Amino acid sequence: MHYHVLTLFPEMIEQGLHTSIIGRAIEAGIITLSAVNIRDYAGNRYGKVDDYPYGGGAGMVMQAEPVYQACRAVEDTIGRKPRVIYLTPQGQTFSQTMVEDFAKEEDLVFLCGHYEGIDERVLEEVVTDYVSIGDYVLTGGELPAMVMIDAISRFVPGVLSNEESAQFESFQDNLLEYPQYSRPSVWRGKEVPPILLSGHHANVEIWRRQQSILRTWQRRPELLADAKLTKKEQQYLEKIRQEEQEKEEGRKTVCGRTADADRKEDEPHES
Ligand code: SAM
Repeated sequence: MHYHVLTLFPEMIEQGLHTSIIGRAIEAGIITLSAVNIRDYAGNRYGKVDDYPYGGGAGMVMQAEPVYQACRAVEDTIGRKPRVIYLTPQGQTFSQTMVEDFAKEEDLVFLCGHYEGIDERVLEEVVTDYVSIGDYVLTGGELPAMVMIDAISRFVPGVLSNEESAQFESFQDNLLEYPQYSRPSVWRGKEVPPILLSGHHANVEIWRRQQSILRTWQRRPELLADAKLTKKEQQYLEKIRQEEQEKEEGRKTVCGRTADADRKEDEPHES
């Protein structure tokens, strides 16, 4: 996988991605990363690449031509038109499904905006995908590009060790991951669930799967609609739902009784 990041701040990309697992993958040549400075294509000796927005308003807009030339330079280097992702809060929200789709590409170009964004005409010309990392506005596209590169690289063969890639992760099968524990077995009086110390691998697997279902139901219930569950797991989910419903009804009854009792106590007593 070859990543090409078009940016006004190449040092941010280089410093941010040369550590840990991604840094190791770059050093091993499994992925390559080139940060292309859009200012190198400014076409003026000041390296100026932004200007005031037509129609007025606050801020500056990145001009079309330098972005276009930076993009063309990448195309010329690799000899074809790659997918060009514009990082923008107006894009489709980044997801694990998108990660797996992008990971199939040989080259990916990330276009990082700054200030008020980029002249619309060059976006129409070069961009294939508009992606947001969430419903909030950042100062630039560099952090979103790094987030995407990190997530996509995990799916590039060889980036994770065999042990790391065999692990169950959140969003696999549309479930969140089960809770994790490490030494010591008792920490400040809190014990690790005994099943994890039993050495019974089959039972541990069943427990972890149930914890995944429970956690997904508690934290991201909407994911369960597309989760593939066995018959037994569906029954387990049904049991959780029923138990929760019973608890809820119990709470209502207790609250109801308390309210009645309170009302009675407040009533004036005849003497
Ligand atoms: N004026 C733009 C708007 O309202 O849509 C926002 C511009 S933002 C201040 C500057 C740049 O940061 C954008 O061009 C984009 O590249 C990047 N950016 C900001 N928030 C982002 C997000 N949630 N996801 C992806 N990129 C983002």
